[in-house]
Amino acid sequence: MATDNFQDETEGVADGGWQAAWADAVRSASELCRLVGLPDQEPGWAAGWPVLVPRSYLSRIAPGDPSDPLLLQVLPRPEELEIPEGFSSDPLGETAASPVSGMLWKYQGRSLIVATGTCGVHCRFCFRRHFPLPASPPRLSAMEPALERVGRERSIHEIILSGGDPLTLDDGSLSELVGRAAEMLHVRRLRIHTRMPIAIPGRVGPRLVELLRATRLTPIVVVHVNHPAEIDPAVEAALARLVDAGIPVLSQSVLLRGINDNADTLAELFEWLVDLRVVPYYLHQLDRVAGTAHFEVPEARGRRLIEELRGRLPGYAVPRYVREVPGASSKVSLE
Ligand SMILES: *Cc1c(COP(=O)(O)O)cnc(C)c1O
Ligand code: SF4
Repeated sequence: MATDNFQDETEGVADGGWQAAWADAVRSASELCRLVGLPDQEPGWAAGWPVLVPRSYLSRIAPGDPSDPLLLQVLPRPEELEIPEGFSSDPLGETAASPVSGMLWKYQGRSLIVATGTCGVHCRFCFRRHFPLPASPPRLSAMEPALERVGRERSIHEIILSGGDPLTLDDGSLSELVGRAAEMLHVRRLRIHTRMPIAIPGRVGPRLVELLRATRLTPIVVVHVNHPAEIDPAVEAALARLVDAGIPVLSQSVLLRGINDNADTLAELFEWLVDLRVVPYYLHQLDRVAGTAHFEVPEARGRRLIEELRGRLPGYAVPRYVREVPGASSKVSLE
Protein backbone atom coordinates (compact mmCIF):
# COMPACT_ATOMS: atom_id res chain seq x y z
CA MET A 1 0.00 0.00 0.00
CA ALA A 2 1.21 3.46 -0.91
CA THR A 3 0.27 4.79 2.51
CA ASP A 4 2.46 2.26 4.28
CA ASN A 5 5.39 3.12 2.04
CA PHE A 6 4.84 6.75 2.73
CA GLN A 7 5.02 6.27 6.47
CA ASP A 8 8.18 4.20 6.22
CA GLU A 9 9.92 6.68 3.96
CA THR A 10 9.20 9.66 6.13
CA GLU A 11 10.17 8.03 9.40
CA GLY A 12 6.80 8.17 11.05
CA VAL A 13 5.62 11.53 9.75
CA ALA A 14 2.21 10.55 8.42
CA ASP A 15 -0.21 12.77 6.51
CA GLY A 16 -0.96 15.64 8.89
CA GLY A 17 2.06 14.76 11.05
CA TRP A 18 3.96 17.52 9.35
CA GLN A 19 2.05 20.04 11.42
CA ALA A 20 3.35 18.42 14.59
CA ALA A 21 6.86 18.52 13.11
CA TRP A 22 6.38 22.20 12.35
CA ALA A 23 5.09 22.97 15.85
CA ASP A 24 8.07 21.11 17.30
CA ALA A 25 10.64 23.18 15.34
CA VAL A 26 13.57 24.79 17.16
CA ARG A 27 12.73 28.44 17.77
CA SER A 28 15.70 29.95 19.55
CA ALA A 29 19.30 30.57 18.60
CA SER A 30 20.61 29.30 21.93
CA GLU A 31 18.67 26.05 21.66
CA LEU A 32 19.92 25.65 18.11
CA CYS A 33 23.53 26.17 19.25
CA ARG A 34 23.07 23.73 22.10
CA LEU A 35 21.59 21.06 19.81
CA VAL A 36 24.43 21.29 17.31
CA GLY A 37 27.05 21.31 20.06
CA LEU A 38 28.28 24.89 19.67
CA PRO A 39 28.75 27.57 22.30
CA ASP A 40 25.82 29.93 22.77
CA GLN A 41 25.92 33.35 21.18
CA GLU A 42 25.30 36.83 22.48
CA PRO A 43 21.51 37.09 22.48
CA GLY A 44 19.45 40.12 21.49
CA TRP A 45 20.66 41.27 18.11
CA ALA A 46 18.67 38.76 16.06
CA ALA A 47 15.25 40.04 17.05
CA GLY A 48 12.73 40.57 14.26
CA TRP A 49 13.31 37.46 12.18
CA PRO A 50 12.96 34.65 14.64
CA VAL A 51 14.80 31.37 14.38
CA LEU A 52 12.72 28.51 12.96
CA VAL A 53 14.40 25.19 12.24
CA PRO A 54 12.39 21.96 11.94
CA ARG A 55 14.09 18.97 13.56
CA SER A 56 14.31 17.11 10.27
CA TYR A 57 16.39 19.97 8.84
CA LEU A 58 18.40 20.09 12.07
CA SER A 59 19.22 16.40 11.70
CA ARG A 60 21.09 17.21 8.46
CA ILE A 61 23.41 19.71 10.20
CA ALA A 62 26.81 18.32 11.18
CA PRO A 63 27.32 18.74 14.93
CA GLY A 64 30.18 20.88 16.19
CA ASP A 65 30.87 22.65 12.88
CA PRO A 66 30.25 26.42 13.05
CA SER A 67 30.61 26.69 9.27
CA ASP A 68 28.20 23.89 8.39
CA PRO A 69 26.45 25.03 5.18
CA LEU A 70 22.99 24.28 6.54
CA LEU A 71 23.62 25.87 9.91
CA LEU A 72 24.81 29.07 8.23
CA GLN A 73 21.46 29.35 6.46
CA VAL A 74 19.42 29.29 9.66
CA LEU A 75 21.54 30.59 12.56
CA PRO A 76 21.50 34.37 13.12
CA ARG A 77 24.93 35.97 13.10
CA PRO A 78 26.20 39.38 14.20
CA GLU A 79 27.03 40.20 10.56
CA GLU A 80 23.30 40.70 10.04
CA LEU A 81 23.71 44.07 11.72
CA GLU A 82 25.99 45.30 8.95
CA ILE A 83 23.95 47.05 6.28
CA PRO A 84 26.18 48.40 3.52
CA GLU A 85 25.06 50.90 0.91
CA GLY A 86 22.71 49.36 -1.66
CA PHE A 87 21.05 46.94 0.78
CA SER A 88 17.50 47.80 1.90
CA SER A 89 14.32 46.23 3.21
CA ASP A 90 12.50 46.35 -0.18
CA PRO A 91 15.26 46.09 -2.83
CA LEU A 92 12.89 44.64 -5.43
CA GLY A 93 10.40 47.50 -5.21
CA GLU A 94 7.70 44.89 -4.65
CA THR A 95 5.28 47.35 -3.12
CA ALA A 96 5.11 48.99 -6.55
CA ALA A 97 4.34 45.69 -8.33
CA SER A 98 1.38 44.86 -6.14
CA PRO A 99 -1.93 45.93 -7.77
CA VAL A 100 -3.96 44.53 -4.87
CA SER A 101 -2.96 43.14 -1.49
CA GLY A 102 -1.53 39.62 -1.71
CA MET A 103 -0.72 39.76 -5.44
CA LEU A 104 2.51 40.49 -7.30
CA TRP A 105 2.05 40.99 -10.98
CA LYS A 106 5.34 41.80 -12.64
CA TYR A 107 5.55 39.50 -15.65
CA GLN A 108 3.22 38.88 -18.55
CA GLY A 109 0.92 35.88 -18.40
CA ARG A 110 1.71 34.86 -14.83
CA SER A 111 0.81 36.33 -11.52
CA LEU A 112 2.15 35.55 -8.10
CA ILE A 113 -0.22 35.16 -5.18
CA VAL A 114 1.24 35.57 -1.71
CA ALA A 115 -0.65 32.66 -0.21
CA THR A 116 0.82 33.05 3.26
CA GLY A 117 3.56 34.90 5.12
CA THR A 118 4.79 31.90 7.06
CA CYS A 119 7.46 29.35 6.19
CA GLY A 120 8.61 25.92 7.28
CA VAL A 121 12.10 27.17 7.99
CA HIS A 122 13.48 30.70 8.37
CA CYS A 123 16.37 31.42 6.04
CA ARG A 124 18.60 34.27 7.17
CA PHE A 125 19.19 35.51 3.60
CA CYS A 126 15.51 35.87 2.79
CA PHE A 127 13.69 38.99 1.58
CA ARG A 128 10.86 38.00 3.91
CA ARG A 129 12.89 38.93 6.98
CA HIS A 130 11.53 42.47 6.78
CA PHE A 131 7.89 41.56 6.26
CA PRO A 132 5.61 41.39 9.28
CA LEU A 133 4.87 37.83 10.35
CA PRO A 134 1.15 37.10 10.47
CA ALA A 135 -0.26 36.64 13.96
CA SER A 136 -2.69 33.91 12.92
CA PRO A 137 -2.76 31.21 10.26
CA PRO A 138 -3.69 32.54 6.80
CA ARG A 139 -7.26 32.32 5.61
CA LEU A 140 -8.55 32.13 2.08
CA SER A 141 -10.48 35.36 2.67
CA ALA A 142 -7.16 37.22 2.86
CA MET A 143 -6.47 36.12 -0.72
CA GLU A 144 -9.87 37.22 -1.99
CA PRO A 145 -8.73 40.53 -3.57
CA ALA A 146 -5.89 38.73 -5.40
CA LEU A 147 -8.17 35.93 -6.63
CA GLU A 148 -10.78 38.40 -7.83
CA ARG A 149 -8.19 40.36 -9.73
CA VAL A 150 -6.74 37.26 -11.40
CA GLY A 151 -10.30 36.25 -12.29
CA ARG A 152 -10.73 39.50 -14.22
CA GLU A 153 -7.36 39.35 -16.04
CA ARG A 154 -7.78 36.99 -18.94
CA SER A 155 -4.13 37.35 -19.94
CA ILE A 156 -3.04 35.48 -16.81
CA HIS A 157 -2.48 31.83 -17.75
CA GLU A 158 -0.49 30.81 -14.72
CA ILE A 159 -0.98 31.36 -11.01
CA ILE A 160 2.15 31.12 -8.90
CA LEU A 161 1.52 30.39 -5.26
CA SER A 162 4.34 31.82 -3.22
CA GLY A 163 4.78 33.54 0.08
CA GLY A 164 6.17 32.73 2.56
CA ASP A 165 5.64 29.09 1.75
CA PRO A 166 2.25 28.09 0.31
CA LEU A 167 2.72 24.52 1.55
CA THR A 168 2.42 25.77 5.12
CA LEU A 169 -1.29 25.98 4.27
CA ASP A 170 -3.08 22.80 5.23
CA ASP A 171 -4.46 20.52 2.53
CA GLY A 172 -8.02 21.71 3.13
CA SER A 173 -7.20 25.39 2.52
CA LEU A 174 -4.91 24.51 -0.35
CA SER A 175 -7.61 22.41 -1.96
CA GLU A 176 -10.06 25.31 -1.69
CA LEU A 177 -7.51 27.67 -3.19
CA VAL A 178 -6.72 25.32 -6.08
CA GLY A 179 -10.45 24.87 -6.64
CA ARG A 180 -10.91 28.63 -6.91
CA ALA A 181 -8.02 28.90 -9.35
CA ALA A 182 -9.39 26.06 -11.48
CA GLU A 183 -12.74 27.87 -11.82
CA MET A 184 -11.02 30.65 -13.76
CA LEU A 185 -11.10 29.29 -17.27
CA HIS A 186 -8.24 31.42 -18.59
CA VAL A 187 -5.86 30.02 -15.94
CA ARG A 188 -4.08 26.91 -17.22
CA ARG A 189 -1.23 26.26 -14.84
CA LEU A 190 -0.66 26.33 -11.11
CA ARG A 191 2.90 26.73 -9.96
CA ILE A 192 3.92 26.27 -6.32
CA HIS A 193 7.14 27.81 -5.06
CA THR A 194 8.10 25.95 -1.90
CA ARG A 195 10.89 24.96 0.45
CA MET A 196 8.70 22.55 2.42
CA PRO A 197 9.98 19.35 0.74
CA ILE A 198 13.38 20.38 2.15
CA ALA A 199 12.25 21.86 5.47
CA ILE A 200 9.66 19.23 6.39
CA PRO A 201 9.60 16.51 3.71
CA GLY A 202 6.63 14.83 5.40
CA ARG A 203 4.55 17.76 4.08
CA VAL A 204 4.41 16.01 0.72
CA GLY A 205 1.77 13.51 1.73
CA PRO A 206 -0.75 11.50 -0.31
CA ARG A 207 -3.49 14.15 0.03
CA LEU A 208 -1.28 16.91 -1.35
CA VAL A 209 -0.12 14.76 -4.23
CA GLU A 210 -3.68 13.72 -5.01
CA LEU A 211 -4.93 17.27 -4.93
CA LEU A 212 -2.27 18.40 -7.39
CA ARG A 213 -2.94 15.44 -9.63
CA ALA A 214 -6.69 15.86 -9.61
CA THR A 215 -6.91 19.53 -10.58
CA ARG A 216 -7.74 20.59 -14.12
CA LEU A 217 -4.72 22.91 -13.95
CA THR A 218 -1.25 21.74 -14.94
CA PRO A 219 0.69 21.70 -11.68
CA ILE A 220 4.36 22.63 -11.45
CA VAL A 221 6.36 22.53 -8.23
CA VAL A 222 9.50 24.64 -7.85
CA VAL A 223 11.50 23.51 -4.85
CA HIS A 224 14.00 25.82 -3.16
CA VAL A 225 17.20 23.89 -2.38
CA ASN A 226 20.68 25.33 -1.87
CA HIS A 227 23.06 22.55 -0.89
CA PRO A 228 23.43 18.80 -1.47
CA ALA A 229 23.50 18.22 2.30
CA GLU A 230 19.90 19.44 2.38
CA ILE A 231 18.88 16.28 0.52
CA ASP A 232 18.48 13.19 2.67
CA PRO A 233 16.43 10.02 2.04
CA ALA A 234 13.23 11.65 3.35
CA VAL A 235 13.69 14.57 0.95
CA GLU A 236 14.43 12.18 -1.92
CA ALA A 237 11.22 10.30 -1.11
CA ALA A 238 9.17 13.51 -0.97
CA LEU A 239 10.45 14.62 -4.38
CA ALA A 240 9.85 11.15 -5.78
CA ARG A 241 6.23 11.23 -4.64
CA LEU A 242 5.66 14.38 -6.70
CA VAL A 243 7.52 13.17 -9.78
CA ASP A 244 5.95 9.71 -9.65
CA ALA A 245 2.55 11.42 -9.73
CA GLY A 246 3.54 13.07 -13.01
CA ILE A 247 4.04 16.53 -11.50
CA PRO A 248 6.94 18.43 -13.09
CA VAL A 249 9.42 19.48 -10.40
CA LEU A 250 11.97 22.26 -10.96
CA SER A 251 14.50 23.66 -8.51
CA GLN A 252 15.67 27.10 -7.56
CA SER A 253 18.72 27.95 -5.48
CA VAL A 254 20.27 31.10 -4.12
CA LEU A 255 24.00 31.62 -4.61
CA LEU A 256 25.32 32.07 -1.06
CA ARG A 257 28.81 32.94 0.10
CA GLY A 258 30.45 30.27 2.22
CA ILE A 259 27.54 27.89 1.56
CA ASN A 260 27.39 26.91 -2.10
CA ASP A 261 29.71 29.34 -3.90
CA ASN A 262 32.04 26.73 -5.33
CA ALA A 263 31.77 24.61 -8.45
CA ASP A 264 32.05 21.24 -6.70
CA THR A 265 29.11 21.92 -4.37
CA LEU A 266 26.91 23.32 -7.15
CA ALA A 267 27.81 20.50 -9.55
CA GLU A 268 26.98 17.90 -6.91
CA LEU A 269 23.68 19.63 -6.11
CA PHE A 270 22.49 20.01 -9.70
CA GLU A 271 23.58 16.57 -10.82
CA TRP A 272 21.89 14.99 -7.84
CA LEU A 273 18.69 16.91 -8.54
CA VAL A 274 18.72 15.64 -12.11
CA ASP A 275 19.19 12.10 -10.83
CA LEU A 276 16.10 12.69 -8.70
CA ARG A 277 14.24 13.84 -11.88
CA VAL A 278 14.19 17.47 -10.73
CA VAL A 279 15.25 20.01 -13.37
CA PRO A 280 17.50 22.85 -12.11
CA TYR A 281 15.69 26.04 -13.13
CA TYR A 282 17.15 29.13 -11.49
CA LEU A 283 20.30 30.03 -9.61
CA HIS A 284 19.46 33.39 -8.05
CA GLN A 285 21.85 36.17 -7.35
CA LEU A 286 21.07 37.28 -3.78
CA ASP A 287 18.54 40.10 -3.48
CA ARG A 288 20.24 42.98 -1.68
CA VAL A 289 18.13 42.75 1.45
CA ALA A 290 19.30 44.53 4.58
CA GLY A 291 21.02 42.08 6.93
CA THR A 292 22.13 39.66 4.21
CA ALA A 293 25.26 41.35 2.81
CA HIS A 294 27.57 38.70 4.26
CA PHE A 295 25.92 36.12 1.97
CA GLU A 296 26.56 38.04 -1.24
CA VAL A 297 28.73 36.52 -3.96
CA PRO A 298 30.06 38.97 -6.59
CA GLU A 299 28.35 38.50 -9.96
CA ALA A 300 31.69 38.00 -11.72
CA ARG A 301 32.36 35.03 -9.48
CA GLY A 302 28.86 33.68 -10.12
CA ARG A 303 29.49 33.88 -13.87
CA ARG A 304 32.76 31.99 -13.55
CA LEU A 305 31.02 29.27 -11.53
CA ILE A 306 28.31 28.88 -14.18
CA GLU A 307 30.94 28.70 -16.89
CA GLU A 308 32.73 25.93 -15.04
CA LEU A 309 29.46 24.05 -14.53
CA ARG A 310 28.74 24.27 -18.25
CA GLY A 311 32.02 22.45 -18.87
CA ARG A 312 31.17 19.72 -16.38
CA LEU A 313 27.44 18.98 -16.59
CA PRO A 314 24.83 18.25 -19.26
CA GLY A 315 23.21 21.44 -20.52
CA TYR A 316 19.89 20.69 -18.81
CA ALA A 317 21.62 20.35 -15.42
CA VAL A 318 22.87 23.94 -15.38
CA PRO A 319 20.22 26.40 -14.15
CA ARG A 320 19.86 29.96 -15.43
CA TYR A 321 21.84 32.41 -13.35
CA VAL A 322 19.49 35.36 -12.81
CA ARG A 323 18.77 38.36 -10.68
CA GLU A 324 15.65 40.39 -10.13
CA VAL A 325 15.72 43.95 -11.34
CA PRO A 326 12.82 46.21 -10.34
CA GLY A 327 10.81 47.23 -13.38
CA ALA A 328 12.29 44.56 -15.71
CA SER A 329 9.85 42.45 -17.75
CA SER A 330 11.41 39.18 -16.59
CA LYS A 331 14.19 37.94 -14.35
CA VAL A 332 17.44 39.23 -15.80
CA SER A 333 20.06 36.77 -17.01
CA LEU A 334 23.55 37.31 -15.59
CA GLU A 335 25.30 35.09 -18.13
C1 LIG B 1 10.08 35.13 -10.31
C2 LIG B 1 8.72 35.67 -10.42
C3 LIG B 1 7.80 35.13 -11.30
C4 LIG B 1 8.11 33.91 -12.15
O1 LIG B 1 9.02 34.18 -13.12
P1 LIG B 1 9.45 32.99 -14.11
O2 LIG B 1 10.56 33.57 -14.88
O3 LIG B 1 8.25 32.65 -14.90
O4 LIG B 1 9.86 31.85 -13.25
C5 LIG B 1 6.55 35.69 -11.41
N1 LIG B 1 6.20 36.78 -10.68
C6 LIG B 1 7.07 37.33 -9.82
C7 LIG B 1 6.63 38.51 -9.04
C8 LIG B 1 8.35 36.80 -9.65
O5 LIG B 1 9.20 37.35 -8.76
S1 SF4 C 1 11.49 29.30 2.96
FE1 SF4 C 1 11.71 30.75 1.26
S2 SF4 C 1 10.35 32.46 1.82
FE2 SF4 C 1 10.70 31.25 3.67
S3 SF4 C 1 12.44 32.16 4.74
FE3 SF4 C 1 13.28 30.56 3.42
S4 SF4 C 1 13.78 31.59 1.50
FE4 SF4 C 1 12.39 32.91 2.62
